[in-house]
Amino acid sequence: MIEDSPFVAAAPVLVPMPAERPYTYAVPAGMRVVPGSIVRVPLGPRQVAGIVWDGGVEKVDAKKLRPIEQVFDCPPIDRAMRRFVDWIAQYTLSPPGMVARMLLRAPEAFDPEPWIEGLQRTFAKPDRMTGARMRVLETAEGGLAWTRSGLAHAAGVSSTVIDGLKAQGVFETVMIPPRPVVAAPDPGYAQPSLMPDQSHAAEMLRTNVAAGAFGVTLLDGVTGSGKTEVYFEAVAAALDRGRQVLILLPEIALTHAFLERFQERFGAKPAEWHSDLPPRMRERVWRQVAEGGVRVVAGARSALFLPFRELGLIVVDEEHDPAYKQEDRVFYNARDMAVVRGHIGGFPVVLASATPSVESRVNASQGRYHRAVLSARFAEAALPDLKTIDMRRAPPARGGFLSPVLLGHMRQTLEKHEQSLLFLNRRGYAPLTLCRVCGHRFGCPVCSAWLVEHRFRGQLVCHHCGHNERRPEACPECGTLDHLVACGPGVERIAEEVVAHFSDARTIVLSSDLMGGVRRLRLELEAIAKGEADIVIGTQLVAKGHNFPDMTLVGVVDADLGLSNGDPRAAERTFQLLSQVTGRAGRTGKKSLGLLQTFQPDHPVMRAIVSGDAEAFYEREIAERERAALPPFGRLAGVIVSAATRAEAEGHARGLRRAAPQASDLFVLGPAEAPLSLIGGRHRFRLLIQGERRADMQGFIRSMLAEGPKLRGSVRVQVDIDPQSFL
Ligand code: ADP
Ligand code: ZN
Repeated sequence: MIEDSPFVAAAPVLVPMPAERPYTYAVPAGMRVVPGSIVRVPLGPRQVAGIVWDGGVEKVDAKKLRPIEQVFDCPPIDRAMRRFVDWIAQYTLSPPGMVARMLLRAPEAFDPEPWIEGLQRTFAKPDRMTGARMRVLETAEGGLAWTRSGLAHAAGVSSTVIDGLKAQGVFETVMIPPRPVVAAPDPGYAQPSLMPDQSHAAEMLRTNVAAGAFGVTLLDGVTGSGKTEVYFEAVAAALDRGRQVLILLPEIALTHAFLERFQERFGAKPAEWHSDLPPRMRERVWRQVAEGGVRVVAGARSALFLPFRELGLIVVDEEHDPAYKQEDRVFYNARDMAVVRGHIGGFPVVLASATPSVESRVNASQGRYHRAVLSARFAEAALPDLKTIDMRRAPPARGGFLSPVLLGHMRQTLEKHEQSLLFLNRRGYAPLTLCRVCGHRFGCPVCSAWLVEHRFRGQLVCHHCGHNERRPEACPECGTLDHLVACGPGVERIAEEVVAHFSDARTIVLSSDLMGGVRRLRLELEAIAKGEADIVIGTQLVAKGHNFPDMTLVGVVDADLGLSNGDPRAAERTFQLLSQVTGRAGRTGKKSLGLLQTFQPDHPVMRAIVSGDAEAFYEREIAERERAALPPFGRLAGVIVSAATRAEAEGHARGLRRAAPQASDLFVLGPAEAPLSLIGGRHRFRLLIQGERRADMQGFIRSMLAEGPKLRGSVRVQVDIDPQSFL
């Protein structure tokens, strides 16, 4: 692929560093680079991989330039992807080099995959025939090349039989291309018969894909309404047009079940992409995406930075999910960036959710997005009956956290041989440990956070920095033995309570810190789906997407958790999470029940969930956002200043505030000490910038940073455009 001007004597190269612009390198005579070429260049004492960028080069004395060392034998990064990198850098105020770095995460993949040695039948005949040799020759009939072990395996003989035949010239060595990581998906493999509203939605998506132009569709359907089934039709349409497809999923624990489902529909799995993939596999996927061999990728947010060359559709499943926000180095929301990518690439984007974000709902109602609605569950499946349990009227027994009402329903569910799910979004045993004698509380030495007790591991753990220590017998403050108490519940503690009540029930605890990692988690999820557990106790990990056929009761242990944490999205988040959790029940037609333990049964969020009137909730929430000029009606950005000392952090933050430019449509709040005022030994202050929708937020912050105090000592500044977290 040749684009733009092919020959230059010097070329701009974007290197994976906090570089504000590409660096200029000499192109040695005879070397051919184009914008997008992946090259190896010297950088200080090191060699790094970079991308040849667009734009002219500065006028410099060519003799002073260091040369590009090597052009990798790799398809160039295409123009759309390069524009995408520039766009994200501009929008998030990150150095373009740091965005490019996300694209260059599979260094071994820049060289072609090696071809494999294979064997192919010649016209020669073996000196004598044996049964084993006969089987080999029959298997290898048809002239295809085989690997030595593959042929031995398929013919059911030992490899020495093959070696013998090769020695006689019956087989010759040929080189065969690397195997694809996944087979090609077949859009016509198993077409579903869709229900009327499903086929209406599918038609809409198919039309958009066929138009081959940018457009966003919000696929809004209750849990179990067949959203996946429907967006698969958009995937099929894109494949029919010869385009690649990216499906973003918020949680890698979900991927396995998804891959199987995809295979049932398309006859082959999509390639997966997430941090848990073995490095070798990552590189093969990266390479085959770049070469176009992989047609569909299902992956985490970082899959947005794979080097697609014919991308024609992105689906963002569970588009409201906070896991799409990356808050590390480059702060970006993969849902929003998927829309940008579609805009740059000129192709459609589908956002799917049972509980869309307020942002997407507003975009749909203002006509920027199309909206396709699925209002009923598929077939006989009915949504669960939802009720609150007023914890003031039906309190748990002393020392417990489960109301007798919930326990009663759990008993009935057990008697029917159906499953219950208890949801609590708190890992570990207890969020706080204190000494009953002196009142000492166990806090993290380097964070402003309490240590969470993990009783299975016998540890106290900081959930912010990972610091952990053994839970002592005696209080470190007053020395008293055996007087430490656990305050509040985590999932482990709820499990203890459940076992005390239902000692014969098969109980499983699921949370992201499960020993054995993702593999173990997947096995546990499969076991639950097969009915091998009676009671499941889990964090938000169990809330998403899973299909548990026998689950008919969902109990939310603390529905109020997360409602009052100063986050402007607290109500929305709680509504989404609780709808998602209770949506796990009754997916196969059995009568089901969702119970919310709450001290505020009259809170609008509780009322909206129980009444099933999601529309009323969105209307109210949208009106409130509009009144307060909060996103999507206004803009927000966070600036987090951290330093080794409190004084440094505060001083720098105040300096930034003083440097803020005059603007009529933007104003600065703070600096204030962050709610998490200390993380990993660094003191933190926050500035919040709020303003009108059309205001130039990036220009404002850029000027503030430029005019403000210079970065000195241990001070670090992070900009978070469209923040999701205010901690
Ligand atoms: P959602 O993604 O909206 O939660 P799913 O796509 O997972 O819903 O569908 C819920 C269940 O109903 C799945 O088991 C799915 O296979 C099934 N289903 C939905 N629509 C159909 C259909 N038209 N034909 C067959 N099965 C369907
Ligand atoms: Zn800590």
